[in-house]
Amino acid sequence: MNISQNWRLNNQRYRLAGEECPHCGVKIFPPRDACPECTKPARELFTFSGKGEVYSYTLVLDPPEGFEDQKPYAVALVKLDEGPMVTAQLTDIVGEPEIGQRVEMVTRKLRTDGDQGIIVYGYKFRPLLASEA
Ligand SMILES: [Zn+2]
Repeated sequence: MNISQNWRLNNQRYRLAGEECPHCGVKIFPPRDACPECTKPARELFTFSGKGEVYSYTLVLDPPEGFEDQKPYAVALVKLDEGPMVTAQLTDIVGEPEIGQRVEMVTRKLRTDGDQGIIVYGYKFRPLLASEA
């Protein structure tokens, strides 16, 4: 992925920005400009709270190139409070996550790209403090 592509994805990555359907009110992530529920055009920006719960997860023991120094790590399917499911790496977690555990989005280094050492940032989810859940 080149730098301009990264730049374009920044809104989506850093703020968990999606869309809201003006016809049926469904919250959409990732943004796709058409409602998955009613198939009508949906281009109204909506910023998610970034909070949700672990719906399911997988422990990655044999990660792809660029992620080796992070193993083992958990990739979770997170059900956002607003409805959509997102797949993301879990961070700041001790041991294995629990199904239903409250999590929130944070921006973290995802990986280092190639010989030039370009650092790619993106979102991960970390456990939410009990007082914030
Ligand atoms: Zn809709």
